[in-house]
Amino acid sequence: MEKIYDVIIIGGGPAGLSAGLYAARAKMEALIIEKGKTGGQIITTNEVVNVPCSVRETTGPAIIERLVEQVETFGTTIVKDNVKEVELEGNIKVVYGMNEVYKAKTIILANGAKPRLLGVPGEGKLTGKGVSYCATCDGDFFTDLEIYVVGGGDSAVEEAMFLTKFAKKVTILCRESALTCAKSIADKVFNHKGVEIIFNTEIREILGNGIVESMIIKNNQTGEETVINADEEDGTFGIFVFIGFIPQTELIKDKVELQYGYIVTDVDMRTNVAGVFAAGDVRVKSLRQVVTAISDGAIAAVQAEKYIESLEDSEEVIQAV
Ligand SMILES: Cc1cc2nc3c(=O)[nH]c(=O)nc-3n(C[C@H](O)[C@H](O)[C@H](O)COP(=O)(O)OP(=O)(O)OC[C@H]3O[C@@H](n4cnc5c(N)ncnc54)[C@H](O)[C@@H]3O)c2cc1C
Repeated sequence: MEKIYDVIIIGGGPAGLSAGLYAARAKMEALIIEKGKTGGQIITTNEVVNVPCSVRETTGPAIIERLVEQVETFGTTIVKDNVKEVELEGNIKVVYGMNEVYKAKTIILANGAKPRLLGVPGEGKLTGKGVSYCATCDGDFFTDLEIYVVGGGDSAVEEAMFLTKFAKKVTILCRESALTCAKSIADKVFNHKGVEIIFNTEIREILGNGIVESMIIKNNQTGEETVINADEEDGTFGIFVFIGFIPQTELIKDKVELQYGYIVTDVDMRTNVAGVFAAGDVRVKSLRQVVTAISDGAIAAVQAEKYIESLEDSEEVIQAV
């Protein structure tokens, strides 16, 4: 007989794994579908200090290893597949993976998001070794060092001001000739003593042997290239890139309500489609972190269970009539 899961969770990052855990604890038949390495963005970092109740300092892979063990122990299956299409209307939802077609009564979208990369030589190799995309996560590692922030929009400028709490100096490298953030934020940063702004400037290459040691920047008006070396005493500096995030919502872009590409939910993680929930970085929210992704996943799973109960109740009413 055709298998119909109670819930299919698309994405095996912290949000999806947490949803899988809560679904299993509620005795739901749950399936997590992950297209890549299970764990999502956090497995790309080896220094995590802000996940409550994990040991004081740990790594992304270590957190995920424990979470996966917990999820599988409770009975949720994780499969490797790349979801290419979904049918979300009706009481039975259909998920088309590259390898298989899956069906479920509810769906939790936990596809996550990705930081937009600079795409310059050295960036990939030095990510987590001086190059960062998250001030909340990594600011503290650059205490008393110099930090360069890339970007000129709201988040770049706000994060630059936040990073002055740690850095001895923060320099914003802005590609345009003016900041593109809101005027109120621009006014604040122009009056901020700890932040310098260099306009019309882009990073061309990041260099270092296991850690960021220097970079080449280019003035896009004059073409002049300059090498920035780490202060001799420090040996390194931070490069924080805030040029946007890319929500992984291509799959559902015409199927659930989105705002700037992110899924709109209510506080119970419900989307505008009955039986479809969203959790984690993929949804509209103010803080994209492991702790909030895990929390969203738990709420989404509990609400998915309640939704199935309400469907069953209404079927009983129809049968009784
Ligand atoms: C370098 C870096 C360092 C970070 N450091 C910290 C930190 O120290 N502390 C902290 O709290 N947060 C940190 N974060 C943020 C944190 O990783 C994210 O907030 C968190 O991972 C979000 O979890 P998520 O499950 O919502 O999404 P993601 O982690 O993005 O996971 C989504 C998953 O869905 C999968 N997926 C997407 N589309 C499909 C599809 N069509 N089919 C199947 N699978 C799909 C993806 O492959 C991915 O594995 C960091 C992020 C980065 C990039």
